[in-house]
Amino acid sequence: MTNLKFINLQNQLNGRLILPEDDEYDLARKVHNGAIDKRPAAIAYCKDVDDVKTCVHFARQHDLLPAVRCGGHNAAGFGVCDGGLVIDLSQLKTIRVDAEARTVRVGGGCLLKEVDEATHQIGMAVPLGFYGGTGVGGLTLGGGWAISHDNTASPLTISWKQMWCLPMDV
Ligand SMILES: Cc1cc2nc3c(=O)[nH]c(=O)nc-3n(C[C@H](O)[C@H](O)[C@H](O)COP(=O)(O)OP(=O)(O)OC[C@H]3O[C@@H](n4cnc5c(N)ncnc54)[C@H](O)[C@@H]3O)c2cc1C
Repeated sequence: MTNLKFINLQNQLNGRLILPEDDEYDLARKVHNGAIDKRPAAIAYCKDVDDVKTCVHFARQHDLLPAVRCGGHNAAGFGVCDGGLVIDLSQLKTIRVDAEARTVRVGGGCLLKEVDEATHQIGMAVPLGFYGGTGVGGLTLGGGWAISHDNTASPLTISWKQMWCLPMDV
């Protein structure tokens, strides 16, 4: 039977909450590394920043381990957890490119390929990674390789990241 506290959480969210009894559960708990087989108590697909705040508050209130997931590419499977709450950001896809300031602000669920697509339209690029399905979130927080970190400002945690755009021929 669904725990009452999760019914309350779903009622507070604009996005969907997936629970172990739902058909989508096995798909929703998957991350890129197929060897990771963790079973969270719930997976919240956040629709907006308010949903993220609600989830963080809920996890703290109920002493649940939170796992934030952007692209789900962390090899150790940090984007999912056993028994806790997965805060999935994959629907936070806003991207704002400022050509004059040479910056791009991206939502916490953006993938490298989506940022590339947006900046390429004005002939700019952020030196991120080579695999487009990687999440900007995990990469910016230190999971990535190469020159990305020299070109990303301190992460503002969950909601937005600020990065410098470089001309594409750099
Ligand atoms: C096949 C593959 C290819 C890769 N290619 C590249 C590459 O080309 N270049 C490169 O630099 N790196 C690459 N990596 C490494 C990759 O950058 C890291 O694994 C990175 O952590 C993945 O980020 P993610 O958001 O997809 O991961 P997730 O598993 O979603 O998250 C990783 C960690 O970051 C946290 N996190 C994610 N988003 C947020 C957020 N918005 N706010 C707060 N916390 C957040 C999560 O809690 C988790 O602890 C690759 C990895 C794989 C498996």
